[in-house]
Amino acid sequence: MLTRFAPSPTGELHLGHAYSAALAHDAARAANGRFLLRIDDIDGSRSREDYVAASLTDLAWLGIAWDGEPVRQAQHLGAYAAALGDLKARGLVYPCFCTRADIAASLSAPHGPPGARPGGLTGGPAGAIYPGTCRPLSNAERERRMANDPHCWRLDMARAAALAGDLHWEEQGQGQGQGRRLADPLVHGDVVLARKDAPASYHLASTLDDAAMGITHVIRGADLIASTDVHRLLQALLALPTPVYRHHALVCGPDGKRLAKRDAAASLAMLRRSGAGGPALAAALVAGRLPTGYSLQMP
Ligand code: GLU
Repeated sequence: MLTRFAPSPTGELHLGHAYSAALAHDAARAANGRFLLRIDDIDGSRSREDYVAASLTDLAWLGIAWDGEPVRQAQHLGAYAAALGDLKARGLVYPCFCTRADIAASLSAPHGPPGARPGGLTGGPAGAIYPGTCRPLSNAERERRMANDPHCWRLDMARAAALAGDLHWEEQGQGQGQGRRLADPLVHGDVVLARKDAPASYHLASTLDDAAMGITHVIRGADLIASTDVHRLLQALLALPTPVYRHHALVCGPDGKRLAKRDAAASLAMLRRSGAGGPALAAALVAGRLPTGYSLQMP
């Protein structure tokens, strides 16, 4: 068994991260497997080295030791570009020149965007789905605009999903939905695989790295279960293995909402400074015993 914890270094780690890291770590250790640490630092504008260092300090304090060197996504840009190139050559991605404002305007137009699926506009798990404005552009138009205009690359979802056919994964997470799950990538619309400001999106980078690292069990928060629809499709398109997934409950604060990086009271650095014991905290979290006021909830 190979598991991983993959924080984005865009803020301090909190109790929710500790729970996720401890689950992944303990699962690997219990199976005599390996636990890897990956720093999801492709977002150059938001990632910070001081957060990377702080994350390593927090994990060490929790008694969570990772095998080998931490993997850095920023060192894998060539692999992301190669996979994107493969999808480009197969006509499965297209350049998109829309700004956020363009997309918002198209979505609010009286008749909706061209080619909208009934009921599909707000059907994306992450909110509104992309209306497909740039999908029908001709090759000549694409070439012309790519020379001048910033653009991202989007997956032609309908085409990709049709090519891949029915896809499933094994879900071992908590609550409902365990067992063999059907991936439904179409509800996400034409997701971004490479951004204007970053060479790969979370979907592409995470899927490629989980495969490259040989991860057998992806253990992460249930907020990411919808993303697995897209990850499963990318695995099929790029001939990558499919790990088992465990999407776990989320740590919620006294207000009942899932923790966010701004919840300073739950930050691990704060708990450490207050004199709490790291390994005891990690063990308590895994056992479902949370500090007063905090709870585990499925979204
Ligand atoms: N880096 C992602 C995050 O911090 C997690 C990625 C994953 O576990 O797939 O939300």
